[in-house]
Amino acid sequence: MAYSNTSLLIDGKWRAGNSGRTIAVLNPATEETIGTVAHADKSDLDEALAAAAKGFKVWRSMSALDRSKIMRKAAALMRERADAIATLMTMEQGKVLSEARIETLAAADVIEWFAEEARRAYGRVIPARGPGIYQLAVKEPIGPVAAFSPWNFPINQVCRKLSAALAAGCSIIVKAPEETPASPAELIRAFVDAGVPDGVVNLVFGVPAEISEYLIPHPIIRKISFTGSTVVGKQLAALAGLHMKRATMELGGHAPAIVFDDADVSSAAKILVGAKYRNAGQVCISPTRLLVHDKVYKEFISKFSEGAKAIKIGNGLAADSKMGSLANPRRVAAVEDFVKDAVAKGGKLEAGGHRVGNKGYFFEPTVVSEVPKDARAMNEEPFGPLALISRFSTFDEVAEEANRLPYGLASYAFTSSTKTATAIGAAIESGMVGINNVGLGMPENPFGGVKDSGYGSEGGIEAMEAYLNNKFISQTGVGRGSPGGSLLILLKARLQFARVTRFLDANR
Ligand code: NAD
Repeated sequence: MAYSNTSLLIDGKWRAGNSGRTIAVLNPATEETIGTVAHADKSDLDEALAAAAKGFKVWRSMSALDRSKIMRKAAALMRERADAIATLMTMEQGKVLSEARIETLAAADVIEWFAEEARRAYGRVIPARGPGIYQLAVKEPIGPVAAFSPWNFPINQVCRKLSAALAAGCSIIVKAPEETPASPAELIRAFVDAGVPDGVVNLVFGVPAEISEYLIPHPIIRKISFTGSTVVGKQLAALAGLHMKRATMELGGHAPAIVFDDADVSSAAKILVGAKYRNAGQVCISPTRLLVHDKVYKEFISKFSEGAKAIKIGNGLAADSKMGSLANPRRVAAVEDFVKDAVAKGGKLEAGGHRVGNKGYFFEPTVVSEVPKDARAMNEEPFGPLALISRFSTFDEVAEEANRLPYGLASYAFTSSTKTATAIGAAIESGMVGINNVGLGMPENPFGGVKDSGYGSEGGIEAMEAYLNNKFISQTGVGRGSPGGSLLILLKARLQFARVTRFLDANR
């Protein structure tokens, strides 16, 4: 399948940037240029802002039911087009086709979950302190959103923001990743083809810092959502704070995975190999510091390393590849440096450790044991196929190590004891904890971090809340002041009831 060039989407029109400039897109498995993406300048952003303001008026006034119908159609289109979209993703990002396909299909699942949730943005009636007073707490869409998403999950990272925003009734400008533009553009195309009105969804690419510096302070934008590194997240959160904009920040992680002495070691090793090398480790919730009890340390290293060595590396498009290339040369250089530093400081290379071939950004699944705490990789997010194994002997010692870093996104623990599971679940400072499993990404569950890993959630009802304002209405005198109005409401309700009864009779 041919790779397509990617356009901007502004006010319902797919088009080039006003300057005509483009950015080259590379295939990380071959290092060849496979296409281009349009580059937005300030005049394009102004048009996107105007479109988002217009789109917001239209979208917020549609019923939640009608919004959810369009979203469900977009989900169906993603399923229909999954094979073609997954191929584009593998070509631009490097991950294996099976993972790209799962990500594309998972997007349909995310969209549907939020489409259902769109119809349940309930408020509440609060009992008043006197007669004739109605106190209502209602939810309203926050307004046009600016969303910034990275290249590691080109569809999923856009999809969570887009689906929650649209479900809540917001319009959005998505700044998707320039390195992997075609697959997120296909996600957005599914919404356009499903009938989302012009201006509700807009897509731009360009220089990330220029776009965020322009959109975040802009008065039309009411909400920011960013996924990426902690360093950049802190800058954008500061800018959002300066302009009193609500923000969701899904940032880096450095997940500890604790293997207690009573764990099923084979199962823990198998699950953790799968989780570590998925997407070549370029995953914010990837298990990175594997903390293993003394009693099972050797056995775990042997089983985990065996699993890592068995992974077949190759072009993501090849059917037998189990791990593709890294997404860009920055990651290869970074992982190489992390490994060199860890070994120089006393770490023992158990598997991998090297770049593969001299074409494409391939790097071996790597395992280093006995890594000292001052190794760089034990402190900075490796964001690559690097597992660091260390030993512990007591619960308190491992809990302290798990919480040592400023990150707090995901954590994992493996144990057969309910007492230990409960204790570690309570002791760990992170937004998500997987105990004997690594299943943290379902759309219905809260997804987000604490500490330097950010704030807010990209899943569950918490994700919807992030795109809603609370409004309190205290109302008196209704009915007495306007008898005509009350009669009209009663009449409308009767008509509606008659229509529903007729429908039910006809479909009995
Ligand atoms: P980076 O930190 O420059 O970029 C990360 C992402 O943020 C990219 O998508 C980029 O386009 C975007 N970005 C950067 N500066 C921005 C700005 N001023 N305004 C708006 N968006 C901006 O570096 P990188 O080499 O692309 O990635 C390096 C690190 O980023 C990784 O090591 C990892 O720690 C982190 N990262 C995290 C995630 C995640 O899922 N949390 C995803 C991708 C990258």
